[in-house]
Amino acid sequence: MAMVVCSGTVEGVDGVPIQVEVDLLRRLPNVVIVGLPGGAVRESADRVRSAIQQAGLEFPKKRVVINLAPADVRKSGTAFDLPIAVGILAESGQVAREKLEGTVLFGELSLEGQLRRVRGALSLTLMARDRGAKRVVLPAENGPEAAVVDGVEVRCAQDLEQVVAWLDGRASLPLAQAAAPAVDREPTLDLAEVRGQPRARRALEIAAAGGHNLLMVGAPGCGKTMLAARMPGILPRLGFDEAIDITRVWSVAGLLHDGQGLVTHRPFRAPHHTISAAGMVGSASLRPGEVSLAHHGVLFLDEVPEFSRHVLELLRGPLEDRVITVTRAAGTVRLPASAALVAAANPCPCGFLGHPSKPCTCPPSAVERYRGRLSGPLLDRIDLQVWVQPVDPEELSRGPRGEPSASVRARVEQARQVQLARAREQGLAVTCNAELAGDAIRAAAQPTPQALAVLEDTMARLAMSARGWARTLKVARTIADLDGAEVVDATHVLEASSYRLTDVEEAP
Ligand SMILES: [Zn+2]
Repeated sequence: MAMVVCSGTVEGVDGVPIQVEVDLLRRLPNVVIVGLPGGAVRESADRVRSAIQQAGLEFPKKRVVINLAPADVRKSGTAFDLPIAVGILAESGQVAREKLEGTVLFGELSLEGQLRRVRGALSLTLMARDRGAKRVVLPAENGPEAAVVDGVEVRCAQDLEQVVAWLDGRASLPLAQAAAPAVDREPTLDLAEVRGQPRARRALEIAAAGGHNLLMVGAPGCGKTMLAARMPGILPRLGFDEAIDITRVWSVAGLLHDGQGLVTHRPFRAPHHTISAAGMVGSASLRPGEVSLAHHGVLFLDEVPEFSRHVLELLRGPLEDRVITVTRAAGTVRLPASAALVAAANPCPCGFLGHPSKPCTCPPSAVERYRGRLSGPLLDRIDLQVWVQPVDPEELSRGPRGEPSASVRARVEQARQVQLARAREQGLAVTCNAELAGDAIRAAAQPTPQALAVLEDTMARLAMSARGWARTLKVARTIADLDGAEVVDATHVLEASSYRLTDVEEAP
């Protein structure tokens, strides 16, 4: 009878249960691992052999057959070292088996037998809990992230020897401790530091309040990046479930720093425009891409016309569906990708078209080509578009500080609550106005006859498409929500229709 030890692997950001079966055969001594092991898993044999010997125990002089089941799930990473080692020791009668019942184990072993952190420990612990496991045994370094999971006992070990002593009842294993309330490493960026820019600040607030995507166009140095980086700080405060979602992604990507438990702030990701498709949306080797790392936070695309068209087009799916599907040989994997998109662009290649004091040096054909790249299929889906004017140096040094993020966030949270309540009332599965589609937009907006008249007039004046009409009404709904208004009226529509780029010549 083969010994079976429960463990798991990560697919996308989800833990998948894996049974590690160990059989010892009276044949020529060697180790065989079967069941679709990835490269790191195949190398496990050497680490396990060395770790067992370092713990003063014996590696069996038999044929060791390790079967990872189910066979059709691709196993990657180094987390099977511990369950393989324990399975070999139990099958060869060197440790007691009783405590293995209901226990999920995972962890990488060093050649000296130390347990090392693995990627995806939070996902694996959630999986163990959901599958009814009694306890999880994992590397001490993974303790803080796994400790946040309720309903399962999480025990930490430093090395293989400690796990063996615990299995034999000679020692106890400490329970994982949640990390102390995290002190964010990044300094908190506050909107108070942004002077001037009333229009861009307002657009940022509307975008945060309604979950809308935002495009800012303006000369280099006018503060687009500064504004975008403050977006996470005005989005609603992070809930516990959202923090778990983000931490799962970051854990799988190997981005948690030592001793980190939950990620406690909304991510801000600003990939460079040279990023590859795999870097943006994730790869076959299952590293989450930037759009997943920005989950529940902000994805900032600076100099958006410089990104490859292919990469921008790949973003259309996740922006609409909030998940990204990566196809691999072993099937497809879904990664979470619900991020607020903030894009920024210069008005022309040199950057100074429409600038109050600096002349633009671009030939008209170059401007046209550049602006052509701004009107791609992705940018058509951006609800809010705003010109950002350079702030006068006088105002930068002497002007009053801006309104702090905390009070902007309070309005955003209020507006989001109104949207949630309305969606519940109307039986819609949306969390914010940006997700409204089709007839739901009009039902949610309840525009007054005057508002509809203004909307029709604007449509005719700006030759707006049906999509433009819907977009304007959605943004107007958010403006009305910030206003505390039940219905959308003409002033809301007028403001909403101003957040679109008309010809450069019309720039203020
Ligand atoms: Zn120019």
